[in-house]
Amino acid sequence: MRIGIAGAGLLGRLCGFQLMRAGHHVTLFDASTSQNPGPESIRAAAWTAAGMLSPIAEMETGGDEVRILGERSLELWKDIDGYLKAKRGPSATDSGVGLQLQDSLMVCHGGDLGSAQRVLRLLAPDTQRVTKLQQDEAITLAPGLKRGLHAWQLRGEGHLYPGQAMQSIAHALHDADWRLGTAVREVKPHTVILDNGPERFDWVFDTRGTGAADELPVRGVRGEVISLFAPGFELHRAVRLLHPRWRVYLVPRPQSRLIIGATEIESEDRSPISVQSMMELLSAAFSIFPSLAEARIVSTDVNLRPATPDNLPLIRTEDGITRINGLFRHGWLLAPAVIEKALGNAGLN
Ligand SMILES: Cc1cc2nc3c(=O)[nH]c(=O)nc-3n(C[C@H](O)[C@H](O)[C@H](O)COP(=O)(O)OP(=O)(O)OC[C@H]3O[C@@H](n4cnc5c(N)ncnc54)[C@H](O)[C@@H]3O)c2cc1C
Repeated sequence: MRIGIAGAGLLGRLCGFQLMRAGHHVTLFDASTSQNPGPESIRAAAWTAAGMLSPIAEMETGGDEVRILGERSLELWKDIDGYLKAKRGPSATDSGVGLQLQDSLMVCHGGDLGSAQRVLRLLAPDTQRVTKLQQDEAITLAPGLKRGLHAWQLRGEGHLYPGQAMQSIAHALHDADWRLGTAVREVKPHTVILDNGPERFDWVFDTRGTGAADELPVRGVRGEVISLFAPGFELHRAVRLLHPRWRVYLVPRPQSRLIIGATEIESEDRSPISVQSMMELLSAAFSIFPSLAEARIVSTDVNLRPATPDNLPLIRTEDGITRINGLFRHGWLLAPAVIEKALGNAGLN
């Protein structure tokens, strides 16, 4: 079938990729002028994301629905990663999505054990996958971790590298029709409406994230991240700090980089990171990894997470159109399973 996709961020390009694998012909429309837009432009939230795949820890905000979809997605990411690597060949250093299946850690300071217990109770259905660690065990898993912290291992979590994943998926879609720099005004059954008129397809997908706010109950939730260069700092897994006021995490990237994220602010302001956010994120990171004092701040980034009123994913299917949105703070965690469900609903898998 001929499929039109409005929005080629995370959902749009991954949806296009799965449709291409199922034998469909895909046209992708995106307002960005490049497949690989830089941070100076308004671009998909997917580029800013830390890339944590945390079905257990994200139960705190998304409950069981997020855990079930997240666990399915982890299985699907293995398949997607394998497919992309096989296409690019083993020598390509940037092939695949950078999938890292390393259990993550959750830590808290002694005085914050009360608020940590609240989160642990929310994760209670999965207690067999949440293990309290002795101090030395925690430091073995995360060298450099400050002594005196409480720590838990979250089994079956991981992370990936969003920038690499976005590029690899786009590369696999080289036979698709890319219509970049093309803002979509509206998406209707079988039809993508552009400034210069409608274009007809057998089926259309609306995956514009916050760009679909005129047609869906979607809002943007501001998130800020900091990228560090920390040579000699050995971190191979995501570490999450439980704190009464902040949700802060550190996620490793290749070449001694790491991401500290992320604020969650009810605002659609895309302006640069605030002094307060910068101080809070850095202080939180430094409080658990003192050796980060000598790391260098490479860049900061700000973006909007597309969120529904209940902060859960939305799939709407009618004849000739599927709208997918609201992946909020779990887009990388949920996208493969949400797309699998959406393609199944539309009979396109
Ligand atoms: C700071 C931050 C940290 C995050 N960390 C994580 C994490 O660790 N793990 C995780 O799972 N998720 C994380 N996320 C969430 C994740 O990035 C999002 O859930 C995900 O990107 C949403 O995917 P999407 O395709 O719906 O939207 P987007 O990725 O935003 O893509 C939307 C696309 O639509 C295009 N578009 C918009 N309007 C139009 C229009 N009118 N016409 C044409 N094109 C249009 C945009 O240019 C964009 O390319 C994070 C997000 C942020 C902001």
